[in-house]
Amino acid sequence: MLKSGMGRALFPFEYRNGIFLPELNLRLDPRRRAPLAFVSHAHADHAVRHERAVATPATLALMKARGVKQAQETAVPFGVEREFPGGRIELFPAGHVLGSAQILVTTASGRLVYTGDFKLRPGLSCEPPAIRSAEVLIMETTYGLPRYRFPPSKEVTEAIIAFCRDSLSNGAAPVLMAYSLGKAQEVLVALKNTGLPIVVHETIARVVKVYRDYGIDFPDFSTFGEAPFEGKVVITPPSSTAAKALPQVKNVRRAAITGWGLDPSARYRFKCDAVFPLSDHADYEDLFRYVGQVSPRIVYTLHGYAEEFARDLRARGMEAWSLVSNNQLELPLAF
Ligand SMILES: [Zn+2]
Repeated sequence: MLKSGMGRALFPFEYRNGIFLPELNLRLDPRRRAPLAFVSHAHADHAVRHERAVATPATLALMKARGVKQAQETAVPFGVEREFPGGRIELFPAGHVLGSAQILVTTASGRLVYTGDFKLRPGLSCEPPAIRSAEVLIMETTYGLPRYRFPPSKEVTEAIIAFCRDSLSNGAAPVLMAYSLGKAQEVLVALKNTGLPIVVHETIARVVKVYRDYGIDFPDFSTFGEAPFEGKVVITPPSSTAAKALPQVKNVRRAAITGWGLDPSARYRFKCDAVFPLSDHADYEDLFRYVGQVSPRIVYTLHGYAEEFARDLRARGMEAWSLVSNNQLELPLAF
């Protein structure tokens, strides 16, 4: 919809098939194939085959492991500056999933930071986030409402472990539904020293292989089909095909692992026995904290409650605008 050229006063960009930066001829997270694209991380909504993709080595490896091979790759490790015609870029950790990157773009117009998906809470299975100052900030605001305040991750993972132990001691199979890239790995690492036997869906195991290549340590587990499910913690992506691969185990207790678990109706919405609000996104307070640390002159918001968060920033005296309208359409149907 935008608003082309909205950022022209300070830093020229357009919001059309991702963020287009005309000075570098570079698109940030375009949803459709582009000649030159920065891919912030390997989640499916960003993993498109481009003519040339700029990403961290881990993101490129994860995309490949999940079946997206780029025509040309420019691997840019964290903290290394790369020159492009028209400016230079630096990728730095977003703390969202392994390899997830924010980008700092420096041109004659100044400094722009684009976050991609990010969080500030430390994770167990990805790089800790970093911060760069910039005049223009384009940020994701998935959880941009005051009611989204995540409890400390340790509290949530302890509750997940208690749910698993309780289910097993009652003769039920605990089935944890967690997205196959990022969330499932976070849960697996949290289960590392519990001694609980674990079985995971193949798509999760494929991602773990790449994480291991990047030095993340996991507990032992078997994959679906390798071992019986009785007496084990089952981890599967929430997609229906994965759910169909679940055996006909009687007495199953299902738990969804998602930040949307903070919504009071989440248990009914996800048709689960429990929902645990472990998220790989920043919550409302952290979104504010982040803006304060970047200290930009202008903020543009994207995803989730973008309009609401931009309004709240303006209420605190900042110049801030949403790049999207009709935000509700962007809320994920799955998680
Ligand atoms: Zn993501």
